[in-house]
Amino acid sequence: MQEIANNIFAETGFRGCNVGFIVTEEGVVMIDTPQLPVDAIKWRDEIAKHGEVRYLINTEPHGDHFSGNHFFEGAIVAHEGTRTAIISASVDNFIQGLQQKSTESLSLVDGFEFRPPTVTFNDRLTLSLGDHIINLINMPGHTAYQVAVVIPDNKVVFTSDNIFYKVQAWLHGALPFKWLDSLKQLMELDADVLVPGHGAICDRSYIPEMSSFIQKWIDVVTTAIQQGLSMEEAQDTISLLKYYPMDKGSEPMGEQVQRMNVARLYHVLQTSTSR
Ligand SMILES: [Zn+2]
Repeated sequence: MQEIANNIFAETGFRGCNVGFIVTEEGVVMIDTPQLPVDAIKWRDEIAKHGEVRYLINTEPHGDHFSGNHFFEGAIVAHEGTRTAIISASVDNFIQGLQQKSTESLSLVDGFEFRPPTVTFNDRLTLSLGDHIINLINMPGHTAYQVAVVIPDNKVVFTSDNIFYKVQAWLHGALPFKWLDSLKQLMELDADVLVPGHGAICDRSYIPEMSSFIQKWIDVVTTAIQQGLSMEEAQDTISLLKYYPMDKGSEPMGEQVQRMNVARLYHVLQTSTSR
């Protein structure tokens, strides 16, 4: 765990997404939860040293960000679309997945439920706790429901999966052109420290590289469509795996992620008549 600014902590070592928390005069505000129950328990013990959890923010609708909600207190805050995803997530699939990913977690899932958000928003929401102002801003990209958590006084932003720092990006629910716009918006924030959804903590100097990678995906799939390739042919031909490794723990999914990314972009680019 790193203290990335005064009273703001982040952990990049768990399998799944990066997680963090902010210690305020009025309790702890968490950002996302560890995916594996064994890690969630460790994280809960760490956070307990800093106070009671007041709010828990889920930055997006993917399971690696919200599966750990079960193990924490506090009101859960997220985009409306993330609430919809959490309500429809399958507990059976989650527990089956643990049989491959984390057998030591299986003893921790008796009575497991996904805790859905009780506070939702669409565009923006501000949390005020003591002297701390925390701005939640919808920035569509990796999905429509991405939320950036901005702590302006500390110049820290938790970007969600709109930034994958030097690991493969998942585009299976992406809005690629809005993603590029959101990266521009992140670039314009007055921030010194960025906590990406996956990969090491970084700063704004990485944003152009992230934008180039999204643009590269748009370009290779556009070319495939222009050459008349079917979606399956494009999936068989296109891989950007050589540019970055998969994030820790997800290495066996590399090929599958490439195919999912191609399928998504093929669909989006084929049906978009314009930006
Ligand atoms: Zn995600």
